Amino acid sequence: MEIIVLGSGTSHGVPMIACDCEVCRSTDLRDRRSRASVHVVMNGLRIQIDATPEFRVQVLREAVPAIDLFILTHGHADHILGMDDLRRYCDLRPDGTLPVFCSEEGEGRVRAIYPYALKPRGEAPDGYARFDLRRLPARLELPEGVIESTPLPHGRVDTLGLVFTEAGSARRFAYYTDCKTVPSAARELARGVDLLFLDGLRPTPHPTHLSIPEALAVVTDLCPRQAYLTHLTHAVAHDDELIYLNNGVRFAYDGMRILI
Ligand SMILES: [Zn+2]
Ligand SMILES: [Zn+2]
Ligand SMILES: [Zn+2]
Repeated sequence: MEIIVLGSGTSHGVPMIACDCEVCRSTDLRDRRSRASVHVVMNGLRIQIDATPEFRVQVLREAVPAIDLFILTHGHADHILGMDDLRRYCDLRPDGTLPVFCSEEGEGRVRAIYPYALKPRGEAPDGYARFDLRRLPARLELPEGVIESTPLPHGRVDTLGLVFTEAGSARRFAYYTDCKTVPSAARELARGVDLLFLDGLRPTPHPTHLSIPEALAVVTDLCPRQAYLTHLTHAVAHDDELIYLNNGVRFAYDGMRILI
């Protein structure tokens, strides 16, 4: 399984608009954080998680050739506002339609923002995005592997926490972005995974996101083989890893690719 990090930043992105702090002025490319999103290749199946406002730039940068399946973790602007640019990937599909999996909350947001993408084929001109909107079940079995999902508390909404298990290799990847806590069911699901991505917003507490110390406590409990924090703000530079992190936990950065 391959994980391509399209973006690793919080809703503001880094550099943040009109900020001249040290991290926003950093020349280290790993401190340029577009909004958080990953692309997963599981036994050849291309799964896109979220579409940020920079989605088009991200997939051009990483030369993503196709998307077979899209998952929306939740309907916040930094995760949903790039979905119109899925139009090209819809065009590349035999039926012109992309399966889009989401929660009830995510479905409401997609319907509100992209009503034109939900029309049946023939009712909208070719070239537009066309989504086959579906609820993500707790367990989605596919020939290429299994995708399990679990709700993660994130203020007024729940985020879909995702765990991928590749058929054959049995390698497991958990993507837990945008959450204030990781409930026990989500912990059981992700315990001992090969790779964990976890919300680790900033060093100080936040009402709807895990802080870095809170995230590290979750990592210690889950014992993944590798762990990365994502959805990062300008409060930390990539080079600050040694200050804030322990037990081999790292900061994710845009453009990193991990094979498990
Ligand atoms: Zn800044
Ligand atoms: Zn969010
Ligand atoms: Zn977010």
